[in-house]
Amino acid sequence: MIKENVAVIEKRIADAAARAGRTDKIILVAVTKNHPLENVEEAAACGITDVGENRVQEAMEKMEHFHGCLKWHLIGHLQTNKAKHAVAHFDLIHSVDSAHLLKAVDKAAENLGKVQDILLQVNVANEESKFGMEVDAFPEIIEMAKGLSHVRVQGLMCIAPDYENVEDVRPVFRIARALYEHMQTKFPAGQIQYLSMGMTHDFEIAIEEGANMVRVGTAIFGPRNY
Ligand SMILES: *Cc1c(COP(=O)(O)O)cnc(C)c1O
Repeated sequence: MIKENVAVIEKRIADAAARAGRTDKIILVAVTKNHPLENVEEAAACGITDVGENRVQEAMEKMEHFHGCLKWHLIGHLQTNKAKHAVAHFDLIHSVDSAHLLKAVDKAAENLGKVQDILLQVNVANEESKFGMEVDAFPEIIEMAKGLSHVRVQGLMCIAPDYENVEDVRPVFRIARALYEHMQTKFPAGQIQYLSMGMTHDFEIAIEEGANMVRVGTAIFGPRNY
């Protein structure tokens, strides 16, 4: 099943890109949270290179079985007290959502002698139930990030609201893209390169609106058991 699902998603990604007249690379992050190790192995065997997990501990247990052949993305909310483990294990942390966490990640990376690649998570639609910094806080956090030497901001991540009509997310993705383009003017050329948005139910719209990194779980692995 996973193999067929990945092929279907890759086709849908390519079709959405074509509709938008895009030829740039779009990265599929397969979200393996709450799915067993065997599923990760199967995904890797059919060409998945990027894997997303929500929890540091769960991810670490899976990572042991791979030897640098996958790129690991932390996409779930990160508590500052887990920053150390996150920095030690993840290639890209999508969920940096506050000044406080940004500083903690920088400090943890300094202690490990690493420069941590991160995205800034923005709560574009200002939903109470979602993590992510407010749009108003964004300029200040960008300035702060520029002054830190152990984090490298590479872009923006957002989670769109779960509207009944999926088309309604389009304006949210548009705002995210505008913020992303604003970021590109604030950092050295080429540094801001990932716009991470779009999940199972809305990734095609996200791509039409400029996403170049989509995070897809359910459509590849089926529903999650909690
Ligand atoms: C779980 C999760 C996903 C994947 O969601 P699906 O609807 O299963 O594709 C993507 N992004 C984040 C931040 C998630 O927590």
